[in-house]
Amino acid sequence: MLQDIFPHNFNNSYIRCTPTNDSLVFVYSAGYFLLSPSKAPAAYLPCYAELPEQIKTHSVQYLFAIDNVAIFLLDLDRAIFLSLDWKCCPVTTTIKDASPWMPLVAITAAQLSHWYQNHKYCSRCGHSLSHSTTERALECQRCQIIEYPKIAPIVIIAVVHEGKLLMTHYADKTIKPYVLIAGFVEIGESLEEAARREVLEEVGLQIADVKYFGSQPWGLSDSLATGFFATIKHESPIVLEYRELADARWFTPHELPHELDNGSLTAAMIEAFRHEEIGV
Ligand SMILES: [Zn+2]
Repeated sequence: MLQDIFPHNFNNSYIRCTPTNDSLVFVYSAGYFLLSPSKAPAAYLPCYAELPEQIKTHSVQYLFAIDNVAIFLLDLDRAIFLSLDWKCCPVTTTIKDASPWMPLVAITAAQLSHWYQNHKYCSRCGHSLSHSTTERALECQRCQIIEYPKIAPIVIIAVVHEGKLLMTHYADKTIKPYVLIAGFVEIGESLEEAARREVLEEVGLQIADVKYFGSQPWGLSDSLATGFFATIKHESPIVLEYRELADARWFTPHELPHELDNGSLTAAMIEAFRHEEIGV
């Protein structure tokens, strides 16, 4: 999964620091980031020393470290970003030959970029927000409000019945593969309650034996995805939520599609069912 970058270490402790020549820089603009031209063909982030002088005048923000190498964010507007003429990639692309930490770094750096971009002013009084000197937070000096990065939990539910896994197909045709039932946790809910509600809403089934499987950060929707396996309380027909889903069906391990092999939590849960690694 995204966070599985062994033997590398992701250190998200916040420190106030400035880049050195060896620091890596996530040069970012609207969903795309730059790869270092000098490290080709192995895709890699540029280090601070190799940045063109004209963009070193822009401010950089410390993000986190990989293996004690600091990574900084440098946000650029689109015109300057494209004028550099370096290879750029969407943050969701799997980059051939990139370090195993690249997807986690790219998605989490993009998450923080969006957070900084969208939190320039205090939502209570309208005053400019400033960076905290002690933690990853933004502060209003006028009314003392403190803003932290938002993390919105998601539940993903693998419903199993008589050796078959329930998978659904979204009505939104841009999402092609069959996937597991999933949704955001709502206010006042536990993860287990959210899992029960989502399955009932989407396919009309009541679930039992809800068991935690694992979790995965997913910064592009400010999310923390949590995965659960469950059985059904009693046999009843599937009743689709037609505004969201086009289909829902039961798959045996041999019938399961292979098209979702993307390192996601959903893919890990499907593979666990395929290889009978779960005990529901
Ligand atoms: Zn304020």
